[in-house]
Amino acid sequence: MRERFPIFDLHCDTATELSLQKKSWASNDLHIDLDRAGRLLTHHQFYAFCCVYDRQGQPLPEALAEAQFFTAISDFYGQLEQNADRVKLCRNVEDLIAAAKVQRQGVFLSLEGPEVIGCDPERLEELKELGFLMTTLTWNFPNALAGSHGSDQGLTDQGKVFVRRAQELGMIIDVSHLSEKAFWDLIDITRAPIVASHSNSRKLCPNSRNLSDEQFKAICNLGGLVGLNLYAPFLSETGHADFSDFKRHLDHFLELGGAHHLAIGGDLDGCDQLPTGFTGIESWNDLGRWLMQQGMEEETVNNVFNNNAVHFALKHLQKSRLGG
Ligand SMILES: [Zn+2]
Repeated sequence: MRERFPIFDLHCDTATELSLQKKSWASNDLHIDLDRAGRLLTHHQFYAFCCVYDRQGQPLPEALAEAQFFTAISDFYGQLEQNADRVKLCRNVEDLIAAAKVQRQGVFLSLEGPEVIGCDPERLEELKELGFLMTTLTWNFPNALAGSHGSDQGLTDQGKVFVRRAQELGMIIDVSHLSEKAFWDLIDITRAPIVASHSNSRKLCPNSRNLSDEQFKAICNLGGLVGLNLYAPFLSETGHADFSDFKRHLDHFLELGGAHHLAIGGDLDGCDQLPTGFTGIESWNDLGRWLMQQGMEEETVNNVFNNNAVHFALKHLQKSRLGG
């Protein structure tokens, strides 16, 4: 049986936590550090920056959120430099190919909560220059762009301009945390595939953060990706989950035709309740082995854990000559 699996994870909150908790990326007691990531066969990871709330979960005023964001990003750049022998920041397709060639971890930046740039479409270019390739429209609060999950607010006019500008810049729109109304408004206007970086099946676990079957199929039809989330309350209504709950969501999305659109978005360091037996980044190897023991084809595990996201990145991330 295989020991190590390739991983391309669409969402974690590690970068933000490293900054807030003043911890080292190389080695720490969070869910993700580079030492443990080294136990995977390969590792590519989207690092999300979510700086819109305080430690009580209340919205931060935009000026404070912006300050926290720029501190987090500058801290992370520092850590990128210190760990340059193990990681490579990927700003475009060529960077991903180069990272893979020298067996470095491909590091991708995404934004969760555009309040940190004042929800301003004019500031997306600034974000792009910092290396961001993907952004949500909301976190857990409604904003000038759209309603958040659980609300019935759609996409605003400013939200539509924001989507258009982001897609012109080659940035991917991440629909996790978005209201369903805003999701369908987005489907009407999008000119590019979209991603739900860390959301599960609402049919199996009714929660506004999860996707209906219709939403999942719409993402697939556009050529997008859905990343399965490890947060136990999004896997099981009981709030407790194990590997079999993860597999239920995986099987359900495969049945809906998601073989080439399903990925992982573990939400590591963004959630405090993981499935039993999952302790951190190193546990993807255990989950992969377990899925194969349950009879899942190795190719399916590889596709969901890594290959679908790699193919998506190669196809849809911007080429550097376009201004990456
Ligand atoms: Zn999130």
